[in-house]
Amino acid sequence: MKEYLKSNIFRVISDVAEIEGVDAYVIGGFVRDILLNRPSKDIDIVVVGSGVDFARKVAQRLRARKVTYFKNFGTAQLKHNEWDIEFVGARKESYRLDSRKPIVENGSLEDDQKRRDFTMNALAIGLNKRNFGELIDPFNGLQDLKSKTIRTPLDPATTFSDDPLRMLRAIRFATQLNFDIELKTLDAIREMSSRITIVSIERVVDEINKMMASPRPSVGWLLLEQTGLLQHIFPELAAMKGVEARNGVSHKDNFYHTLEVLDNLSLKSDNLWLRWAALLHDIGKPKTKRFVAGQGWTFHGHEFLGAKMIPEIFRKLKLPLNDKMKYVQKMVLLHLRPIVLSQEVVTDSAVRRLLFDAGDDIDDLMMLCEADITSKNDITVRKHLANFRLVRKKLKEVEEKDSIRNFQPPVTGEMIMETFNLKPCKEVGLIKNRIKDAILDGEIRNDFFEAYTLMLNAGKELGLTAININPQYISLTNK
Ligand code: ATP
Ligand code: MG
Repeated sequence: MKEYLKSNIFRVISDVAEIEGVDAYVIGGFVRDILLNRPSKDIDIVVVGSGVDFARKVAQRLRARKVTYFKNFGTAQLKHNEWDIEFVGARKESYRLDSRKPIVENGSLEDDQKRRDFTMNALAIGLNKRNFGELIDPFNGLQDLKSKTIRTPLDPATTFSDDPLRMLRAIRFATQLNFDIELKTLDAIREMSSRITIVSIERVVDEINKMMASPRPSVGWLLLEQTGLLQHIFPELAAMKGVEARNGVSHKDNFYHTLEVLDNLSLKSDNLWLRWAALLHDIGKPKTKRFVAGQGWTFHGHEFLGAKMIPEIFRKLKLPLNDKMKYVQKMVLLHLRPIVLSQEVVTDSAVRRLLFDAGDDIDDLMMLCEADITSKNDITVRKHLANFRLVRKKLKEVEEKDSIRNFQPPVTGEMIMETFNLKPCKEVGLIKNRIKDAILDGEIRNDFFEAYTLMLNAGKELGLTAININPQYISLTNK
């Protein structure tokens, strides 16, 4: 462990602690992570005294220029080389009998450790001469780390009511580190789950995204469901759970299916937004579910409804409403297309249309579809995978031949308007679409001159007169 403390940073902090006569400790995530052998560059320093004054002294010695002081919070942040160091004075949390609002006062190291979320996050290491490198572990955090247990330092009800986000952090750490939540702690989450509603959605989603970036995100979603937290933070996903049977016919549980897809995909891709797409690909199913005699359960149009639900879900979760959202929406909308393709005789035209609609995201879409195969039957799985291999091959062939990906219609709306002397109107759109369809259906090649000729013919069919024909284009077309 001392290896990690050999850095110049800790020597300087130790010297300042000695000179100023205050006690300083490195605490929390940094200590946990070096013990778990996943060293990080974020260091939290607690001093028994003023964090801001202490940071100023350290910054002077390091000649660090990037220091930010948050006087109102009594904290300071210093960036030095690859390190990101936060200084804070040790605090104590106490509650007045007449108010639920905590008063934060100066406290001892132990006071500060008590108000941390978990025993493994309350570990501190002394940085003064007398205790340099010594682990200060009043709640047996080291043992919990060894047995991979998440446990609150105080009674869980106390720790969670001081900040209900900690319930979610427990689940996030369980997912990220593959740890178990101690039974009493888990029971408390179950009992207090509704308290999560007082926490800001930004803090909630921060934890969810860390969970989503973990090797097996399903661990977290299952815990959220089992503790009742899911219903409060993401009811649309909770609605996916359950199986209904009619006339002895039941459908699969879409919640568990979704989690399997998410884990399958996470084995193949770290792309956070593709992982969100996997989580949301069937989100339209509960609302489109029907029982049709002779057919059984159907979810017709769930990809359209699902795609329509995405902006509202992103808005509620305060996820970015930008191209990331559009990407997720596109994945949800298109997630059945390669499946349909793989089930039919694959025509060039259908492949071109898929390439046109998916653009550069085609490989991600194929990855999502392959992750969507969750049959327990080995033969079925192999059959589907083989079909998708065929679709991929076809995609490659068509792409090499026609370069449809990110294709822009070779004849623009301006050209159409100029040729037929039109203002923007319905006919311009009709001609543009006619050209696009002809290319996608393989009637003409993705080529300017073929498109120009088709434009002239399409105009004629609509009763338009070509006023300005560019002779250069015509002579080339006739070659
Ligand atoms: P990571 O950096 O992987 O997200 P972390 O545990 O380091 O995990 P930070 O947000 O960096 O999380 O917080 C650093 C430390 O601050 C934690 O280890 C913990 O001791 C304390 N802490 C953070 N958030 C809370 C909270 N909501 N309640 C109590 N203590 C917290
Ligand atoms: Mg951290």
